[in-house]
Amino acid sequence: MSGLIGHTMYGILARHEARARGLPIAGLLARHDATYLCGAYLGCDIQTMPEAVCVDTGREVGFGTVPVERSPITGGAVRPWSLAFDGREYRPRALHDRFYGRAHLIFGWTAAERQHAVPWDHLADYVAATIGDAIDFLGAGGRSIAYLFGWLVHIVGDSLIKSQHPGLRLHLVDGTYTPTNRPIQDLVTFHEVGRAELGLDWERTLGALAATPVEPAQLHAMRVARPRGALAAIFPNAWAPGDEALARCVLAENRRYLAPCAERLLDEYRLTDGPDGPMCDATLSRLAGGLTYRQMVAAAEQAHFRDALDFIAHETVDLFEQVLDREPRVAGLDATSHPAAR
Ligand SMILES: [Zn+2]
Repeated sequence: MSGLIGHTMYGILARHEARARGLPIAGLLARHDATYLCGAYLGCDIQTMPEAVCVDTGREVGFGTVPVERSPITGGAVRPWSLAFDGREYRPRALHDRFYGRAHLIFGWTAAERQHAVPWDHLADYVAATIGDAIDFLGAGGRSIAYLFGWLVHIVGDSLIKSQHPGLRLHLVDGTYTPTNRPIQDLVTFHEVGRAELGLDWERTLGALAATPVEPAQLHAMRVARPRGALAAIFPNAWAPGDEALARCVLAENRRYLAPCAERLLDEYRLTDGPDGPMCDATLSRLAGGLTYRQMVAAAEQAHFRDALDFIAHETVDLFEQVLDREPRVAGLDATSHPAAR
């Protein structure tokens, strides 16, 4: 699991860009930064849950849908983990198939549901309708709206980095986004961009992000609620109110498991002093084709990786602008305080 670092950074850079453009949403995003950044990550990654249980220690391990062969704690046996809800057990894969598309509106649907994919040029309509509904009848204040903007960050970032939507020109070692270059993207984002350039305190940022509450507007945004409002008028398809209670349980589980995930990542991405400068975790080096941390930084520079991050932020804020055009009331939320969402 590494989407956390990338998506959080896309959120941070998009917030900077929104401020640079003088968008009326910038203040609201800053005020609800932890919730906004949580939306940028968890707004979509509903498979943030264990994948297995270590048999020897009984502890939860892995990240939902990513196969775990042996316990990362003991090297011993694991058994599958399931989410228990209403007398039934749900494996992460089943939950992924059920909810991933309605979170990643553009490309996440299963083959059988592909007709529900939201075209790129309708994405702003979708998000603006959701936000309008949140203002109209979900009792949502600025915090929920910040979450929904974060959710948009995730959709745009994923679509670009996973080349579901064209435009991003990045070739880092062996492609745009590959098992080999993922550790490089994460480590460079974490240390060079996050810590060195932006002075980011990752421990505090990720800790605050993981501690934010589930936003009820998420259920409406995912169409796992009673169809109503502008969203149901424009997108009458794919509503699944029967899944609302299960979705609520999944979102709570995502929040619960994010904290240990984040802690594990902070540990994994730590650098140590080596004879030739900083060294990263040996497993990450191996995954990255044997590159040392120094070589990773050089590869990222050669690929203009930092520019790619800026490109993603710019594209995202273009979408912010489109949403603001469609739902200008968002600008007013910034200036007033609102009650927390129910
Ligand atoms: Zn995603």
